[in-house]
Amino acid sequence: MKGIYFDGKHAIYRDDLPMPEPMGTESLIRIYYGGVCSTDREVRKGYRPDFRGIMGHEFVGIVEKSPDGSWVGKRVVGELNAGCGHCIYCRTGREKHCLERKVIGMDGKDGCFAEYMTLETHLLHKIPDQLSMPEALLTEPLAAALQIPSQVPIHPDIETAIIGDGRLAYLIASVLHLHGVGLTIFGKHPEKLKEFERFGKTRKAEGVDTGKQNFELVVEASGSSTGLDLASKLVRKQGTIVLKSTYAGTANVDMSYFVVNEITIKGSRCGPFEPALRLLEKGLVQLPPVEFYELKDWEKAFASRAFKAGFQIGPFVES
Ligand SMILES: [Zn+2]
Ligand SMILES: [Zn+2]
Repeated sequence: MKGIYFDGKHAIYRDDLPMPEPMGTESLIRIYYGGVCSTDREVRKGYRPDFRGIMGHEFVGIVEKSPDGSWVGKRVVGELNAGCGHCIYCRTGREKHCLERKVIGMDGKDGCFAEYMTLETHLLHKIPDQLSMPEALLTEPLAAALQIPSQVPIHPDIETAIIGDGRLAYLIASVLHLHGVGLTIFGKHPEKLKEFERFGKTRKAEGVDTGKQNFELVVEASGSSTGLDLASKLVRKQGTIVLKSTYAGTANVDMSYFVVNEITIKGSRCGPFEPALRLLEKGLVQLPPVEFYELKDWEKAFASRAFKAGFQIGPFVES
């Protein structure tokens, strides 16, 4: 089958990949669409040096084989972290923190930039009938944005800052906007920042007078190691910074600053899928359309400056 394979150094388009065989309680999914996210770009740059396999973790597809027959023929999205099922994290609903976990497209498990993929059946979620497959492709990143209100209290009357003007920042702004929060978005690109005007105030991150800005809550979603430094300048003493960016490399910051000013730093990763599907189904979060490419044109997809690029892999196109 066709797919995009990471060999430890490079991403390669291949058409000789073996068909995956579901094991145990896994289902076999025919992939219709895959979404490229900045994490995939980081994997390509060496964010997961030990990973070898098919890339990609955002997908929609149709179940072709499953130990639970009720899934066969269903349109699905799926979570990316497959735990061992019996450790303390797995037993307490925190499978994504399992030490033995496999993560599709980045750790020990083939991903979705291919014609077929296998996944633990309990990680699948049915796509509501009213929602198209291309729209459902944004479930995983929207779930990541929804992780924020499940981790920190969101006060609608407290002005909040978001650092970043990319897709994840947009999804976070959408979610916080639904809470009624007053937002200020700090970004790099004027043309992208323009899209954020519907959510609140927008500011150029570079050269901003941080002395005049201060926020109880700052969400860092710039995708770059410099975002934390700006966040530390924007956050109020005893305030909270939520970190959403993952990148290859490390951030160079003065940690004593966080101690002295008693700042809480909250890491935030994957989030809940069902609320994300509900928001998409009800049209409460509306997102620009995905720009689709064929798998063999993966380099164009990875280089795309569209709000979101992805792959159209399946046998037909649903509008
Ligand atoms: Zn992603
Ligand atoms: Zn486990």
